[in-house]
Amino acid sequence: MTPACYVIYFSGIVLLMSISPCVPSAERPSVTVIDGDGIGPEVVASAVRLVEAAGAQITWEPAEAGAEVFRAGVPSGVPGETIESITRTRTVLKGPLETPVGFGEKSANVTLRKLFETFANIRPARELPGVPTPYSGRGIDLVIVRENVEDLYAGIEHMQTPDVAQCLKLISRLGCQRISRTALEFARSEGRTKVAVATKANIMKLTEGMLAREFAAAAVDYPDLETWHVIVDNAAHQLVKAPEQFEVIVTTNMNGDILSDLTSALVGGLGFAPSANLGTEVAIFEAVHGSAPKYAGQDVANPTAVILSAVMMCRHLGQFEAADRLEQAVLRTLEDGLHTRDVRVGDPIGTRAFTDAIEARIGLAGTLPRRPRRPLLLPHITRTDVRSDPGSRTKIGVDVFIEATDDPARIAERLTDAVTGTPYQLAMVSSRGTVVWPGTGGSTDCIDHFRCRFRIVDTTVWHGESVLDLLARIGRIYRWMHVEKLEEIDGAAGFTRAQGEN
Ligand code: NAP
Repeated sequence: MTPACYVIYFSGIVLLMSISPCVPSAERPSVTVIDGDGIGPEVVASAVRLVEAAGAQITWEPAEAGAEVFRAGVPSGVPGETIESITRTRTVLKGPLETPVGFGEKSANVTLRKLFETFANIRPARELPGVPTPYSGRGIDLVIVRENVEDLYAGIEHMQTPDVAQCLKLISRLGCQRISRTALEFARSEGRTKVAVATKANIMKLTEGMLAREFAAAAVDYPDLETWHVIVDNAAHQLVKAPEQFEVIVTTNMNGDILSDLTSALVGGLGFAPSANLGTEVAIFEAVHGSAPKYAGQDVANPTAVILSAVMMCRHLGQFEAADRLEQAVLRTLEDGLHTRDVRVGDPIGTRAFTDAIEARIGLAGTLPRRPRRPLLLPHITRTDVRSDPGSRTKIGVDVFIEATDDPARIAERLTDAVTGTPYQLAMVSSRGTVVWPGTGGSTDCIDHFRCRFRIVDTTVWHGESVLDLLARIGRIYRWMHVEKLEEIDGAAGFTRAQGEN
């Protein structure tokens, strides 16, 4: 489908940007279906059966990913045939995939999301009839819009020393603009009126702060929506205290992962939490939950999360009537008191019986009010749309990260001697982000990993290769493992101070 082209007024600048209606056009579209691991095959089979019973026109294309694929020796957990299928169909209904913890292979889930640049993860949480929780009656109906391909989930990790691990948190202006505008467009598409951005911008001013700033800039184009910033830890607190105050929360990847598990618990647990991973090319629909291996093959898993994910998929495919029929049948089934064992009241029924009960209610309606819906317009922003063109970029120093067992004063003494005669001067040594030299009066514990901040003091003799000379001099005393140039961009520091640095 050719993307529609809109002129967006963006912080006073007119930016030509295309917005793709998120609706593939084929009358009987193909969907790649991945059963997944653990309870995956049971809950996906239930969703597929019900999508068909609700009258959706879909051709299913089965594909594999996850545990068996890892075991077969494919390190990504995603075989080439699956990638080809998704490239063809552009829509996926997926069961949960098992991920080894703390070692070995990457998550096949994250790989799929990232390979197809599904940058937006939409996770609704709505109070459901017949699913009692401590919040019942308060009308929770909110959506977490989670950035889905950046942040710590890039999984760029390095051992800095044998005892210190590092994970890079990469946040881009492109990613922030895309997710901000997706959240704002999503609110409009569902007739919602409020969007909050949840970040840790008070601590991580450059990374989390970038989302806060880009969201504020994007929100100017949505005067019909009430928008505000909330610090993410307070967002967690507010969600437990008064969840009904939120309609849409947009946030970074890691924050969104945690907040959306929390919001699923508010409405009955992971068995009721659907999600959509949306990009401009591919959309992947899956439950928020994992493979719950202890319940695999026992006919006890709750299929609602995958079924409601399939409802979102039908809407994405433009099959609004089938989506509505299926959603209403689920609501009616729950309202009639039928549920699986994760709802801890009354007599539970098994996965298959619950699916039968929903199928029998297709054509019936629940009593929850229907939400007005129109196709979601996904922002189609490219790297060139957001590339900054600063007037000046000035190098003012370099941070060199070293491995050392000396105390900070000794490190400072040795490095100061080592750089004498160069354009650099040692300005600060920090341990895990806190100044340990010059002394602060504090009592910070040191490990074997230090950041040494060198400032360029003599720009007349400074040249690009001087960093190599600096590293060579440091390398004769300590092992260095990581270097960051310090720049001012348009006069503003492109780095943060250490805690305690004046
Ligand atoms: P999990 O599979 O989501 O299970 C956690 C708990 O949630 C279960 O023990 C169960 O709680 C409840 N639960 C989840 N889904 C349920 C359902 N459909 N019906 C009833 N109860 C349900 O999380 P995990 O144990 O942390 O992860 C297991 C594996 O899944 C890991 O390999 C993980 O990496 C993977 N995972 C995959 C995805 C994905 O594919 N998108 C997402 C998350 C995790 P009770 O014990 O209270 O009954």
